[in-house]
Amino acid sequence: DPTTATSTKRVLLAAPRGYCAGVDRAVVAVEKALDTYGAPVYVRKEIVHNKHVVETLRERGAIFVNDTDEVPEGARLVFSAHGVSPAVRQAAAARSLDTIDATCPLVTKVHKEAVRFAKDDYDILLIGHTGHEEVEGTAGEAPDHVQVVNSPDEVDQVVVRDPAKVVWISQTTLSVDETMETVRRLREKFPSLQDPPSDDICYATQNRQVAVKKLAPEADVVIVVGSANSSNSVRLVEVALQAGAGSAYRVDRAAEIDDAWLEGATTVGVTSGASVPEILVQDVIKHLAAHGFGEVEEVRTATEDLMFSLPRELARGLKAAG
Ligand code: SF4
Repeated sequence: DPTTATSTKRVLLAAPRGYCAGVDRAVVAVEKALDTYGAPVYVRKEIVHNKHVVETLRERGAIFVNDTDEVPEGARLVFSAHGVSPAVRQAAAARSLDTIDATCPLVTKVHKEAVRFAKDDYDILLIGHTGHEEVEGTAGEAPDHVQVVNSPDEVDQVVVRDPAKVVWISQTTLSVDETMETVRRLREKFPSLQDPPSDDICYATQNRQVAVKKLAPEADVVIVVGSANSSNSVRLVEVALQAGAGSAYRVDRAAEIDDAWLEGATTVGVTSGASVPEILVQDVIKHLAAHGFGEVEEVRTATEDLMFSLPRELARGLKAAG
């Protein structure tokens, strides 16, 4: 009976999903800088790793650059949520740029750990992805002390000066399970390996993984909304698959959903990365409803109410502008 078949098709919508406190703050910082100072406002790298967000801000007058030398002397430059190394700060100062630092406070926390352990002359093993902006920024705090460990398989190649003085820290947006496996192997090799003072993988990354893990075993397919360069979004696809989803795909927007993915499915899981505006998720929900997945059930594993205050230099500017 086709009617019955249709009525059992459903969507499991993960919560929490989407914007975290650090992304919200960074996006609002660029919006407020544009409102207060007018266009253009320069932004180093993508303010957050989401195509839609970047395109929207570009239309409003933000100019995205790869490095400080592309910014006219004395202009206003926002540092992205992923953070920057001291070398980048110095380069910006040398060009007399008026900087607004939108680095997520939870990334800054990891920078401070790197600085502290380097001061105590530890070998610092930074678990994370080479080439990711956050990793470049964190490693740049102590280039002589930090080495990046990309995956559990890289542990074999790690060489340290003194095995008794080794600490691990990490990128904020990794898979919790894979990171713990890397740490386990590192500890096998270096039994006195020290842990970071607190979790470096942030609350938002952890909460989104817990939520998708809960719905994945029931889902024939999981759709993760997020951009290809968004670390935490890509991790959600991996986590969904490991947790038992029939299949899992990442899309930037609803139009990228392939009808073939939905064939024969009765339950579709939906979530989104920490840099993804809710409107993109709602578009996916509408798209699924149009394909017979009309019933939406929220699967909530945590509630989030964390908010960060605006970057200090911006708050001062807003006050001065009245
Ligand atoms: Fe900050 Fe985590 Fe959001 Fe990154 S994902 S901006 S570390 S809260």
